[in-house]
Amino acid sequence: MRISQYFLSTLKETPQEAQIVSHRLMLRTGMIAQTTAGIYTWLPLGLAVLKKIEQIVREEQNRAGSLEVLMPTIQPADLWIKSGRYNDYGKEMLRITDRHEREMLYGPTAEEVITDIFARYIKSYKDLPKRLYNIQWKFRDEIRPRFGVMRGREFLMKDNYSFNLDYESARASYQAMLDAYVRTFARMGLTAIPVRADSGAIGGTLSHEFQILAETGESQVYYDEAYETLAPGEITLEKLQSLYAAADEMHKPEDCPVPLEKLKTARGIEVGHVFYFGTKYSIPLGAYVMGPDGKQIPVEMGSYGIGVSRLVGALIEANHDEKGIIWPESVAPFKVGILNLNIKDEATNKAAEDLYHKLLNQDVEVLYDDRDQAPGAKFADMDLIGLPWQIIVGPRGVAQGRCEVKNRKTDERFDLSYDDAIQKIRKA
Ligand code: ATP
Ligand code: MG
Repeated sequence: MRISQYFLSTLKETPQEAQIVSHRLMLRTGMIAQTTAGIYTWLPLGLAVLKKIEQIVREEQNRAGSLEVLMPTIQPADLWIKSGRYNDYGKEMLRITDRHEREMLYGPTAEEVITDIFARYIKSYKDLPKRLYNIQWKFRDEIRPRFGVMRGREFLMKDNYSFNLDYESARASYQAMLDAYVRTFARMGLTAIPVRADSGAIGGTLSHEFQILAETGESQVYYDEAYETLAPGEITLEKLQSLYAAADEMHKPEDCPVPLEKLKTARGIEVGHVFYFGTKYSIPLGAYVMGPDGKQIPVEMGSYGIGVSRLVGALIEANHDEKGIIWPESVAPFKVGILNLNIKDEATNKAAEDLYHKLLNQDVEVLYDDRDQAPGAKFADMDLIGLPWQIIVGPRGVAQGRCEVKNRKTDERFDLSYDDAIQKIRKA
């Protein structure tokens, strides 16, 4: 992609309304534009990142044996009346009346819709277990939308729903999701700590929130220092029930089993939530299957969310410096940027264009700064948008047939021939 043909709108100034670094950087890089409070338009650069994150989430859901569906954003109120949540949900729910005076709503979550689908299609224990998920926009009329996409009103969520015959297999679904979450966040270079969460009034339920530690997080997290050395494969439900980690009101100092010198505390951003709730929705919505003995059994359910759009902000909170964003390779909007330092110099122009075409031909995602602008502005923009690699092509190097490859994160620089530069980027 050539910047001259792209939609790049970077700002030098810090937007007044943004209180945290990720929000500031998303506005300054032109990733998003606010359309109205808590509702954003995703501009090309932001959408590229959102899609990368979405795809990682999708691949790990599929790997864990879940099936993707796509549920509507608009839901009928009837289903929520049946589940008993219609009145409880309160003002966070955006309620809509259609032309026939039917009550509708913009879905804040989808337990009711998916349970109803299950009830209509799946009738036998032989079809269990099932896990169905979708990645769809949700709406919650948050009282205080803030921090940009971190707490929006409209936001993109992956929500998975598990259906099992009994408690034992429901636990296995829960564990499969724990594993999928650990892998998902690891692929983005994030360590997320699963902490005990409020599992509501119903006894016997299980719930964990995945928190990324960051100073600007909205939750206060308390955890056993043993978490810091936990390997990914060790995050099992048994382990989580024996190791202590809790956020905010779930943490009761007087009941905390961890001695003070081993208790760590930090701010956290909740990026995911796993929840087992048994037959809370299957009974009222009629999701029963025929069991091996011919009797009708209400299915055991769980739900599992990931804040896909919130993750964009969380990733920036975890990966930036004073110059801008530093994207991990797996979610970067482009892998490499080419900076043509003088588009009026014929030799420089030819070298940069050649590099651009060769990278494109090898399927490398490349953003080419071919604008007629001063080098200083190009350096600043490229650092701000934070692509993992830069190739700097200027008249002095070109005279010797060379360019400079820069790693955005480490600031390491390599003086290379054009072919070596391409190899370096490809192998990275
Ligand atoms: P929070 O405590 O942050 O309000 P929640 O408990 O209401 O979250 P869930 O209902 O479990 O959230 O939703 C699943 C995931 O969706 C959350 O873990 C979070 O990452 C994301 N999420 C929830 N609300 C928002 C929001 N207003 N904006 C962006 N992402 C959100
Ligand atoms: Mg909430």
